[in-house]
Amino acid sequence: MVKPQARHKDCFTKIVATLGPASSSKKVIASLVKAGVDVFRLNFSHGDIATHATNVKIIRDISKKTGRNIGILADMQGPKLRIGTFAAGAVMLKKGATFRLDMDDKPGDDRRVTLPHKEIFAVMHKGMDLLLNDGKVRLKVTAFGKNYAMTKVIVGGEISDHKGVNIPGVTLPISSLTPKDLTNLKAALKMGVDWIGLSFVQRPKDILDARKIIGDKAWIISKIEKPAAIDHLDEIIAISDAVMVARGDLGVEMPVEAVPVLQKKIVFACRRAGKPVVVATQMLESMITNPTPTRAETSDVATAVFDGADAVMLSGETAVGKYPVEAVHTMNQVIKNVEEIPQYSKLLDLYSKGEKCNLPIGAAITSSAKFAAEHMQDAAAIVTYTESGSTSLLAAKERPCLPILSITPNEAVAHRLALVWGIITRKADSPLRLFDDVRTTSQQAAKQMKLAKKGSKLIITAGVPFAHHGNTNTLHIISVE
Ligand code: PEP
Repeated sequence: MVKPQARHKDCFTKIVATLGPASSSKKVIASLVKAGVDVFRLNFSHGDIATHATNVKIIRDISKKTGRNIGILADMQGPKLRIGTFAAGAVMLKKGATFRLDMDDKPGDDRRVTLPHKEIFAVMHKGMDLLLNDGKVRLKVTAFGKNYAMTKVIVGGEISDHKGVNIPGVTLPISSLTPKDLTNLKAALKMGVDWIGLSFVQRPKDILDARKIIGDKAWIISKIEKPAAIDHLDEIIAISDAVMVARGDLGVEMPVEAVPVLQKKIVFACRRAGKPVVVATQMLESMITNPTPTRAETSDVATAVFDGADAVMLSGETAVGKYPVEAVHTMNQVIKNVEEIPQYSKLLDLYSKGEKCNLPIGAAITSSAKFAAEHMQDAAAIVTYTESGSTSLLAAKERPCLPILSITPNEAVAHRLALVWGIITRKADSPLRLFDDVRTTSQQAAKQMKLAKKGSKLIITAGVPFAHHGNTNTLHIISVE
């Protein structure tokens, strides 16, 4: 088997970094790109539209100047439920105490607070658990009416203004896009972002509804953070363009000890379906305040890489941390170390075992391309010609041992593919219509990008005739002249 080869960024697994006050400047964004970021995440839970728009412009400028293909993900806040405010700051709830939640908008105290979400009261039942402040405080409903609930404090702790509320195991009658999200979504699409992140997805309908608004202006990444989404996992994956393991809220909505197993379940389900998957949250959390991570954190990043995740994500580390560039550098180094060892490819194959029968044409072609990549001398890259992105996604699903050079005339597709495992994109000036043009462009691009030299073999896959999307049917191997 040919060893994984160095690319311009040296890694197959991609890095997503969240922008925030610590990183919203030309200088820091340029350093983050240099350190290895492939996709920037604009977190619409924070910041204003003008700041996000400025960041988009900075990213696109840097991308043009450096020739690096960079994706942009606009992450919508979604229906994050929150309590109201308190008259005299934070309050401490004691275990066993009675605490009231209601629709009255008066500031709260240690006996009551506003819960301004009628949808919660609509599904309330006696014995229901309510979690406050990232699950640190647990309340049990003892009595309720149309606009109030009396609860008993099961796990006490501090709560303060606008702390989050989670209701595990309950499917709420709310859309994944709130009125605030709709405003942000419109603005993000106008900015020309590549991906839209949907938060607190509960059911397939959430994605179908969002798709009606987004159309083909961006691809959709569904964040899995609710138990209801786990119940519909395969259906959600099937209609999403990608999925994020949003471990922050997932670890509140579900027992924290369930997160590692759920992470594996989601990653493998996505890999089986050939949908990109991002592992997110608290990957290098201690680097928010420290220049080096804990050993457990580097192992956590490595686990996601070994599992074959398409990307690993930084949140607070790059958004508000003291060491944003160091965090990306660390992540890149961990990825490199994992990808360099022979067991990496073996594990990737192990996790996709058992699917090699009754292959459709596209899968048979890309699976053969992977075989050629692994067994031919001087094989340098798999080249995919794609207009919709689908031929490149099929190639990435195979997790081959060589980089996937994706040639596309579609700039939006190029940006979107920045999130996907192993893909390096090269924009073609115009749609190619003859296979000979693909052959010539592949050789030029591979040589220019230092992926191949004279005599190297390029393994090309495409759908012929071109422009019929999702029609991968051709495997062609050439020797670079
Ligand atoms: C998460 O909960 O892990 C997550 C990525 O979502 P957010 O950061 O928007 O809460």
